[in-house]
Amino acid sequence: MVKKLTILVATSNPGKMLEVKDLFDEVTHCKFRLITPDEAGIALDVKEDGQTYRENAAKKAQAYGRASGLIALADDSGLEVDALDGRPGLYSARYTGSNSADALSASMTIHKLSDAARRIALLEELKTCPRPWKARFCCAVAAAFPDGSTHITEGICTGEIVPDERGTSGFGYDPIFQLDDPACGGLTMAELSLEQKNRISHRAIAVRQAIELLEKRMDN
Ligand code: IMP
Repeated sequence: MVKKLTILVATSNPGKMLEVKDLFDEVTHCKFRLITPDEAGIALDVKEDGQTYRENAAKKAQAYGRASGLIALADDSGLEVDALDGRPGLYSARYTGSNSADALSASMTIHKLSDAARRIALLEELKTCPRPWKARFCCAVAAAFPDGSTHITEGICTGEIVPDERGTSGFGYDPIFQLDDPACGGLTMAELSLEQKNRISHRAIAVRQAIELLEKRMDN
């Protein structure tokens, strides 16, 4: 049996983990075995205080890589809405529906809204803005190696926010994000199966490039 190289996927988001696992599974003769921080017995609180998705992804991957001694993969992602000048962006996971610094810092330290509450807050904030509410999901994936090197890949997926939730798959803002991709025929991300989302999503684009990179490093 071929020995597989263990990669730690630095996320506690089950939706992200499912997508990343599926992307590695689609690689024939995959040389990697993925584990979660839980499975590795590692719990870190990495502050996502970078100015870009790339910085945050690199910070997370490097912290988990150092703690585990393994190759660590981390993603940082967000939803950028044109009518909100690109917000919530880097703060998508902590969005409270307000742009005020007070609300942002409160949301970072005190409570996290549920995905459903964040969707309601976003629609509430958008309701006075004219449609279409053009938006994009952005993702940076960092792979940190035990030799100290870090590789970063990125992906974007464009669409628009719609006022009524549709679909039950995925996570986060998926039910209110309608895809531009003509192959998706006006569906929201939550109306796609995992396999369909992994054909076109921001995360899939970035993770596929990361897998290529990992394979190249293994071959050298
Ligand atoms: P972070 O990468 O852990 O900072 O979280 C990113 C946040 O952006 C998630 O909690 C979601 O709210 C949102 N997000 C990122 N990618 C997706 C996606 O594929 N679907 C829906 N929401 C997403």
